[in-house]
Amino acid sequence: MATAAASETGGAPHLKGAYKIIDHTYDVVVVGAGGSGLRATMGAAEAGLRTANISKVFPTRSHTVAAQGGIAASLGNNSPDHWTWHMYDTVKGSDWLGDQDAIEYLAREAPAAVYELEHAGVPFSRNADGTIYQRPFGGHMQNMGAGPPVQRTCAAADRTGHAMLHALYQQSLKYDADFFIEYFALDLIMSERDGQKVCVGVMAMCLDDGTIHRFRAQSVVLATGGYGRCYYTATSAHTCTGDGGGMVLRAGLPLQDMEFVQFHPTGIYGAGVLITEGARGEGGYLTNSEGERFMERYAPSAKDLASRDVVSRSMALEMREGRGVGPEGDHIYLHLDHIDPNVLAQRLPGITESGKIFAGVDLTRQPLPVTPTVHYNMGGIPCNYHGQVVTLGPDGNPDQVIPGLYAVGEAACVSVHGANRLGSNSLIDLVVFGRATGHHLRDNLKPNAKQPELPADSADFALTRLDHFRYAEGGSPTAQIRAEMQKAMQKHCAVFRDQKLMDEGVAKLAEQNKRMEDIHVTDKSLIWNSDLIETLELDNLMAQANVTMASAANRKESRGAHAHEDFPDRNDKEWMKHTIAWFDGWGGRGSNIRIDYRPVHEYTLTDDIKYIEPKARVY
Ligand SMILES: Cc1cc2nc3c(=O)[nH]c(=O)nc-3n(C[C@H](O)[C@H](O)[C@H](O)COP(=O)(O)OP(=O)(O)OC[C@H]3O[C@@H](n4cnc5c(N)ncnc54)[C@H](O)[C@@H]3O)c2cc1C
Repeated sequence: MATAAASETGGAPHLKGAYKIIDHTYDVVVVGAGGSGLRATMGAAEAGLRTANISKVFPTRSHTVAAQGGIAASLGNNSPDHWTWHMYDTVKGSDWLGDQDAIEYLAREAPAAVYELEHAGVPFSRNADGTIYQRPFGGHMQNMGAGPPVQRTCAAADRTGHAMLHALYQQSLKYDADFFIEYFALDLIMSERDGQKVCVGVMAMCLDDGTIHRFRAQSVVLATGGYGRCYYTATSAHTCTGDGGGMVLRAGLPLQDMEFVQFHPTGIYGAGVLITEGARGEGGYLTNSEGERFMERYAPSAKDLASRDVVSRSMALEMREGRGVGPEGDHIYLHLDHIDPNVLAQRLPGITESGKIFAGVDLTRQPLPVTPTVHYNMGGIPCNYHGQVVTLGPDGNPDQVIPGLYAVGEAACVSVHGANRLGSNSLIDLVVFGRATGHHLRDNLKPNAKQPELPADSADFALTRLDHFRYAEGGSPTAQIRAEMQKAMQKHCAVFRDQKLMDEGVAKLAEQNKRMEDIHVTDKSLIWNSDLIETLELDNLMAQANVTMASAANRKESRGAHAHEDFPDRNDKEWMKHTIAWFDGWGGRGSNIRIDYRPVHEYTLTDDIKYIEPKARVY
């Protein structure tokens, strides 16, 4: 355990409550213990850096545990494959918004990262010859996109994330990292060096005794996952509230490409629970109310295995044109009933169970009702392929690094997924960039290096916000404001968007943000105060919902997951650029958002592969 010392309150007279502050010093503090946070923690600790990991839930309960389908890498076990093919598919999947240097890094490093997981103890499903079993997934093809589909997704049945998370947690316990479990990170501690923002630590609260912990660190890594919960129906866990993104916005830094929200084609109708794309990878297909396999019309070659944005949009169109199933015509059928029950039992046991529990359907005999459901955030904290957080510098440098701050996993926007992520490309992103971040920390930090004293008021920012919400005495319960925000996002920022709908959404969310000043927190204690924690989470969600809505209303083209009905085509000339957005609507000041842009990296990392020129995206 690194040094720790305790003191009473920040002593600040403007606080209503008293807070006990405990001080810690580490070389590296990682916030988040999902796949990306654990891989970064392992890397830093292995390099001899004093490393702490802070997580609001027990590590193996992070959302990564829910990942079913698998992890992409061009091992070539079940069909021919090459890393350049994986790179091509990822660039095309991103609708040319991904940065090709980072995508090259991802695709090249993927096989080594999967073998590393295998050696770390992940019990992958096997082929008869003992190699790792790989299944087809949407948008993954052979021969630089020409096809046929490739089997690239390595799987441990349909519990890949579960297996990965357990192996990674066990591995990180082997190294000497300190875990602060059920601690809630509140805010970054920022400072200035030579007129530039730097990160010097992070503030957190211990959930079971209410003590405040001030972590001083040479570097902080944000691995806090996505913010799917700003929508009403999402496959993400209730803990996916984008706390890292909220902290970054409060630190006066921008978030990137937030308009790109992935809808997974097959959430169970009504429940929102995910049915992995692996189900279609194993031969499942979709039908409309006429019993037609409609994907053949929209994607003649890839059919049900086109990329997610394409399949979700096709489903939405079928429903809109009156060919949805059910009394309200508001869902679609997924068929697995033609597949050998033994194959289902072996390769998709978890979803067979989910079908039974959440839809009352026996998958071996009946079709499953599904609908596109919010699943993944392509946008997030802008960073480079070393994990370093970047921003647009005052001198116009689009890649200016924020010293001391890293981001990995779904919280980050590297950007490898651009406007649309391919299935099974997130799990590989977690480990490849978690590992890259570990390497960068190892190569750039000295273990135990002396750190400057923190400014005397370093706890003030986080405590002022905490205290404000703890004693909030307005008229609106947290759950009410949250539900209204979620419904507004669901209505105004869904699969299809038009300008009027989005402009109304911007105004509605600004109003809802103002209501944050009317919030009411009933429980004033600091012991397992879920009312207070959910309010802090809502504050993070609300800022990101506003930024997402504004970024969507601002982008006048259609690209990947952003389908703008008034501008149905991709417009590379004007819009092949990353949106970056700053939020300054805290304290109920409405939707105070500034938007600017960073160029897409139109170059590769090495000369081994040439820049992949944009072209029309057909599957
Ligand atoms: C149901 C489902 C199935 C999926 N299936 C696949 C798949 O098959 N293949 C694939 O590639 N991708 C899949 N994805 C996507 C992928 O699983 C996620 O993008 C990925 O697991 C996110 O990992 P992460 O490390 O970024 O964060 P998470 O696993 O979400 O973990 C976030 C961590 O941050 C911590 N945290 C957050 N806020 C705070 C705070 N304020 N203080 C302290 N700690 C905090 C949490 O405690 C947690 O440990 C799936 C996603 C879902 C929802």
